[in-house]
Amino acid sequence: KVNRLFHPEDTIVDVNGIKIGGKEKIVVIGGPCSVEGQEQISRIAKEVKEAGADMLRGGAYKPRTSPYAFQGLGFAGIMNLEQAKKETGMPIVSEIMSVDKIDEFVEHVDILQVGARNMQNFDLLKALGKTNKPILLKRGLSNTIEEWLMSAEYIMAGGNPNVILCERGIRTFEKYTRNTLDLSVIPIIKKKTHLPIIIDPSHATGDWELVEAMSLAAIAAGADGLIIEVHDHPECAWSDGAQSLKPKRFKELIEKGRVIANVV
Ligand code: PEP
Ligand code: MN
Repeated sequence: KVNRLFHPEDTIVDVNGIKIGGKEKIVVIGGPCSVEGQEQISRIAKEVKEAGADMLRGGAYKPRTSPYAFQGLGFAGIMNLEQAKKETGMPIVSEIMSVDKIDEFVEHVDILQVGARNMQNFDLLKALGKTNKPILLKRGLSNTIEEWLMSAEYIMAGGNPNVILCERGIRTFEKYTRNTLDLSVIPIIKKKTHLPIIIDPSHATGDWELVEAMSLAAIAAGADGLIIEVHDHPECAWSDGAQSLKPKRFKELIEKGRVIANVV
């Protein structure tokens, strides 16, 4: 069960020896929005690792608003990620959009991300509950905390306790930022549940200039980790370039974040 009443201790999700949750360490996941090919992901993986990140992200199946936008490289992208993992030793995080890809993801991906748009894809949640893989469950674009936790419950009710929550901003009237980052969910989630929570300041803001401030605030508020979009040529990125940090700024952010993590 998701409720802390049934499980007072913090859940720690172990990803190939890296622990998400508990108080030990802020886990930082970095990488491009989309995998664009072997050379791109291998290059960025190396930079992200040198910056001090713990894991690599990259989308191979992309839930795009327009059907004419780049839809991701699919299985080839997953293979590119797996190669980058071999080269750097970093576990890989990628988004799964449908039940028919479960076997592929279980075999090749370390953390299966459920995107905001699929938070209430109940068939997908039930199927993920039958695996034992770590699941990164993003909050839906317009979903309440209760709805989000019930989605986590679907995965756990199926028998999979390895759920990591991810706040990625919600829809509000404000148009200046892509979404509105709801930082208050961090202490609320900590009170209501034993599950780890990480913050995605990239999709929450849509603007790389806001990513560092929101990341540091999230750590100060008690987040267990961050997932951040990083690209070495953001102006040429195939998706979400405007919110992607260059590796150098990503490194600076991690250094500052580790300092704050030590005092909270
Ligand atoms: C992503 O991580 O690239 C993504 C599509 O995120 P979200 O589901 O939060 O929009
Ligand atoms: Mn993205």
